Amino acid sequence: MFDSLSDRLGGVFDKLRGRGALKEQDVRDAMREVRIALLEADVALPVVRRFVDQVTEKAVGQDVLRSVTPGQQVIKIVNDALIETLGGDTTPELDLNATPPIVIMMVGLQGSGKTTSTAKIAKLLKEKHGKKAMMASLDVNRPAAQEQLKVLGEQVGVATLPIIAGQQPTEIATRALQSAKLQAVDVLLLDTAGRLHVDQQLMDEMKAVSAISTPREVLLVVDSLTGQDAVNVAQSFAGQVDLTGVVLTRMDGDARGGAALSMRAVTGKPIKFAGTGEKLDAIEVFQPARVANRILGMGDIVSLVEKAAETVKLEDAEALAKRMEQGKFDMNDLRMQLKQMQSMGGLGALAGMMPGMKKAKAAMAASGMDERVLLRMDAIIGSMTVKERVNPALLNAKRKIRVAKGSGTQVQDVNKLLKMHQEMGKAMKQIKKMGGLKGLAAMFG
Ligand code: GDP
Ligand code: MG
Repeated sequence: MFDSLSDRLGGVFDKLRGRGALKEQDVRDAMREVRIALLEADVALPVVRRFVDQVTEKAVGQDVLRSVTPGQQVIKIVNDALIETLGGDTTPELDLNATPPIVIMMVGLQGSGKTTSTAKIAKLLKEKHGKKAMMASLDVNRPAAQEQLKVLGEQVGVATLPIIAGQQPTEIATRALQSAKLQAVDVLLLDTAGRLHVDQQLMDEMKAVSAISTPREVLLVVDSLTGQDAVNVAQSFAGQVDLTGVVLTRMDGDARGGAALSMRAVTGKPIKFAGTGEKLDAIEVFQPARVANRILGMGDIVSLVEKAAETVKLEDAEALAKRMEQGKFDMNDLRMQLKQMQSMGGLGALAGMMPGMKKAKAAMAASGMDERVLLRMDAIIGSMTVKERVNPALLNAKRKIRVAKGSGTQVQDVNKLLKMHQEMGKAMKQIKKMGGLKGLAAMFG
């Protein structure tokens, strides 16, 4: 007796699961490496500790794929957790759902790249979103800071608030809002002053400006080289204003980007953009997967584990294919497979598991395969004798009429079913000629 399809498919998942669970010691050994990698990437120490603890707890007891080591499996788990922590695949858009002028306030330490990022985002808003933007510098501490923004504004073609000497940040903010309203500006970007270190005056100033302008977005700009200091910086700012997101600058440099993880962990806010150069178009929507890879620095291992997972699936599909091409695939098998198809979410899922099944799939599609068709086919097979099921070649014209009558169908339905069974066998032989499923995968791979 041959295994039913459900048994075989069960086998696939058993193999995916059945390589034994990760033991605590395996996880701890691997996590030692991970910890070093994170520290080298300049993730802040408390963040490293918390992350390592969380992932350790999550990893113990998880299953190891065959052909990878427990350590490699842990690296993959860490990588996935990093991506998740950094924001998964959510696209962190700016929130522009408000009555104009929508205010975006840029905060951060001096030299973090606030002014540059302000101009970069203004350019994006103008060119990508078709928004009328305006920028205003509230930096009255640094000589020439307002002038700097004006020059950048000219470069990106976005208006800046005219400079009036001697005004305080709150006065400038008020004037900027009035001007933005008058000129029907969609988005007003406020570039606030920074200090070399967090201090109370900076914070008070920021809070006052925020109270006046009720910003829709408050973006904390952080240099990706900030390193161990990142936690303190983020905590100080997050404690004073309601941050809505982070801009991570200088990702074009040597930094491995550990600050990204620190920022996420401390603020809980999405990293919205990454600055990737001094030029004004050097800004990207933040990409968690890419940065996770950069932080961990173990991309090779991650892709090895991903490949191993694919190989396991392929090997099992190949075993099933072998049975088919040896002619062992009879009507009983087909019947089980039809049943399985219903529970597996239709033909798509099966074809996805078995490359080369396109023809059989087309034959099934041609027969208008849906729930009712599946049931009808089941009835047809049910009307066959035991011998006919094992050896469908016995089905001559006379027998076909009997089967059709017995199942309440037409002879052409019986023929369709037989045709489909044949196509499946042919598809498998074709695959064998091309070097089996693995060869096929290599050709496309
Ligand atoms: P602010 O003091 O926070 O306003 O910082 P600035 O915007 O004036 O930037 C300080 C310096 O960093 C300038 O020389 C910028 O050109 C540079 N800078 C800003 N963002 C980036 C970036 O993403 N990559 C690189 N390489 N340089 C940047
Ligand atoms: Mg500045």
